[in-house]
Amino acid sequence: ERERLSRLRYTPSITLDGQKVELLANIEQPGDGPAAVRAGAVGVGLFRTEFLFMGRSGNLPGEEEQYRAYREAIDGMQGMPVTIRTLDVGADKPLDKAQPKDYYLNPALGLRAIRWSLADTAMFRTQLRAILRAAAHGQIHLLFPMLAHRSEIEQTLAQLHQAQGELDARGVAYGKVKIGAMIEIPAAALTVRTFLRYFDFLSIGTNDLIQYTLAIDRADEAVAHLYDPLHPAVLRLIAEVIAAADAAGKSVSVCGEMAGDAGMTRLLLGLGLRSFSMHPAQILAIKQEILRADTGKLRPWAQAVVNSDSPGELLAP
Ligand code: PEP
Ligand code: MG
Repeated sequence: ERERLSRLRYTPSITLDGQKVELLANIEQPGDGPAAVRAGAVGVGLFRTEFLFMGRSGNLPGEEEQYRAYREAIDGMQGMPVTIRTLDVGADKPLDKAQPKDYYLNPALGLRAIRWSLADTAMFRTQLRAILRAAAHGQIHLLFPMLAHRSEIEQTLAQLHQAQGELDARGVAYGKVKIGAMIEIPAAALTVRTFLRYFDFLSIGTNDLIQYTLAIDRADEAVAHLYDPLHPAVLRLIAEVIAAADAAGKSVSVCGEMAGDAGMTRLLLGLGLRSFSMHPAQILAIKQEILRADTGKLRPWAQAVVNSDSPGELLAP
């Protein structure tokens, strides 16, 4: 099976009815790019930068160190786009393992991701400057996690503007970036039109979107049986975000675990998704599903799945 899949590595990912689908990698270390390309990725759809910051007992990476890491990620992708997500640490992803998770009452609802960045804007702009400088050397898509409020969008973009101004003042070269928002809070999915006004692209974080829609802690074994990607509420949010992005002519991808689940590929294609970002090990299995799919036939079926009160039954092969 492995050998058969590996023959698909250089096969373009196009459906039976000629729809091109972009398969991207989720990476966690700056040096992960080349292996992702060998696995068949045509870009990085999610570089989780938190691993640069974690486990250093408070000694955060400075602009130079971060710049070198982002450069390494870009150089490893040979001109392909790299989506760099700003820091997503906080209550539920402690910076330091010494920091007890239960220190917080509701870690997943606390100060994490963009909320953390906007609470420490000097740290945030250090990261933004490093990313902007790296963008002088390749195609960077800059992605912001966990946005929900319009005021957060405006504060985030103001910080980006300020970071550019700081580089201008220092006379340091930097590049243009496309900017995107993670859609991973139900409030963001329900107000997706606002996000489409501000951003060039969207990326749906299904791991958190499921957690927050269903009120199921994604890390709590005791409720893991209720963590259901096929809950009709989850599917409806995903379907509406994809449709709204399509209508606005902006690109949208899924970068949560759902994108790398071969059992979900036909449904996501049927909902109009044309960009999937996943662990590199999943890419060829997903490509195989894409090569067998006819999106014209999948579209009405996917709508029926979303409108059903038991989508799991319709999804069975
Ligand atoms: C997600 O929430 O789906 C996602 C991709 O982000 P993370 O898993 O890093 O929270
Ligand atoms: Mg997330």
